[in-house]
Amino acid sequence: MKKDVVIIGGGIGGLMSGCLLCKEGYRPIIIEQHYKVGGGLHCFSRKGAIFESGMHFVSGFEETGPLRKIFSYLGIMDKIHVQPLDKNRFELVHFGSDNLKVTFGVGKDNFIEILSKQFPHEADNIRNLMDALYRICDQIPLFNLRTSSNQWYLNDETLTPVNVFIEKYIQDKKLQIILAWNNTLYSGSKDETPIYIHAIITKFYVEGASRFVNGSQHVADEMVKMIEAHGGKVILKKEITKIEIEDSNITKVIAADGSEYTGDYYISNIHPAYLMDIIDPANIQKAYRERLQNLENSYSAFIMYIVFKPQSFPYMNYNYFYYKDYNLVWNAINYDLKDFPQGFMAMTSPETFQNEYAKKGMFTCIMRYNDFKEWENTVVGKRGKEYVKLKKEIETRFINLVEEVFPNFKNSIDKVICSTPLTIRDYLKSKEGGLYGYKKNSQNLIKSQVLARTKIKNLFLTGQNINLHGILGVPLSAIVTVGELVGGFDYLVNKINDKQ
Ligand SMILES: Cc1cc2nc3c(=O)[nH]c(=O)nc-3n(C[C@H](O)[C@H](O)[C@H](O)COP(=O)(O)OP(=O)(O)OC[C@H]3O[C@@H](n4cnc5c(N)ncnc54)[C@H](O)[C@@H]3O)c2cc1C
Repeated sequence: MKKDVVIIGGGIGGLMSGCLLCKEGYRPIIIEQHYKVGGGLHCFSRKGAIFESGMHFVSGFEETGPLRKIFSYLGIMDKIHVQPLDKNRFELVHFGSDNLKVTFGVGKDNFIEILSKQFPHEADNIRNLMDALYRICDQIPLFNLRTSSNQWYLNDETLTPVNVFIEKYIQDKKLQIILAWNNTLYSGSKDETPIYIHAIITKFYVEGASRFVNGSQHVADEMVKMIEAHGGKVILKKEITKIEIEDSNITKVIAADGSEYTGDYYISNIHPAYLMDIIDPANIQKAYRERLQNLENSYSAFIMYIVFKPQSFPYMNYNYFYYKDYNLVWNAINYDLKDFPQGFMAMTSPETFQNEYAKKGMFTCIMRYNDFKEWENTVVGKRGKEYVKLKKEIETRFINLVEEVFPNFKNSIDKVICSTPLTIRDYLKSKEGGLYGYKKNSQNLIKSQVLARTKIKNLFLTGQNINLHGILGVPLSAIVTVGELVGGFDYLVNKINDKQ
């Protein structure tokens, strides 16, 4: 008789846990509140253009990449469609103040060579920094899908704040800032975020920067097919609002419409703060509950999704970061709302048959939740005139800023859809619209660590708040979580690696 595992939330964390459990002979029952699965993987369409909600820039699918290994183990790698970004320019960073454009290439040596041509006086230092970042990554068994009874890689070096670490290697002040260009991909904070996060993100993307073709929804859909083929279930439009517990074991979970689900085990893929809201406080330690409810979240974003007129805006097979000034690389979140935005990240995602023009584009600028907090008790479509006014004002300024960087942008727009931190909060059920779950801080890392195992004996946690976020971090968390149930992390990692 197969054991049933009820999984609350059908994001990549819940789906990946479900797939891994299927391979072990369990029967996952995934319960998702939205009308589509995927969480950050889900896509929406406007005027025939498919937009990703939270998975625009990926990696790990290259020949020896960790995600290729994981999806091959699941037997669905051939169904995942990715397009590598330009080898010699997967990212371009443009500074308005002196019009400098810096490019980054794929592959460690290529990255070093291309950047060294732009900063020849720092060539040795760039190599030394990249060697150090790669050395840090090598120390992390989880990131390398390597077995180890000891996952503990945190030490004085790996916990050094990113900016301090870079300054140890690089002399040129501008280059010190430029080399922190990707900190918005992990909600980085100066003097706070530990270098191991930067090292993982940098190495991960340098090794295989790519995008999903036609959006990320197909990845979620393929995982659903696998789960259903193994007898599992994915149930949509059911928001779990109550969890019943007896003798430190969950007995059932209950949805808003009253439907009930029971299993031998339960995995929560939802934000731990929201999980605490639906468990009776009598059943959970006060200190644990308060910690999960009060940990700081990563910042949010204002996003403009643009449908372009035919043949009007170039398709860029790279990410374009624009900053008005250098100080914004570390301070983009400390803006004055009336001047917002001062920079952005632009991405055009590929279609199945991509030509030189983009069908759609996404322009993102990181934003504080507090700027829209005033409307936090409202729901999508009913937030009131003042909310709509502020959103429109920001949209207009944002369009003007993009026009400064890409002349003729305005003329190329067919349709604009904007999302605020509240949109992200409500569609993805992400606390405070945070992009990446809990924020990682080198000063209080222990406090921000959330373990997969809980004091409720049959409840396990997974998702971006356990370990790392994103297309790599969340599947790795799922391996940790499912490992707790089926015989350990090493056991699962050996199986995944043996498949190669
Ligand atoms: C705007 C944005 C851009 C991003 N860009 C990238 C990127 O380019 N590359 C990258 O790697 N990462 C990116 N990320 C991060 C990435 O999307 C997340 O780390 C990842 O999707 C998190 O997966 P998860 O499974 O932990 O959570 P989620 O994807 O949030 O899944 C949780 C699921 O639980 C469901 N749920 C919540 N509450 C309940 C409930 N009570 N009952 C039932 N279901 C519930 C939700 O609807 C959701 O489907 C981005 C995130 C955002 C917001």
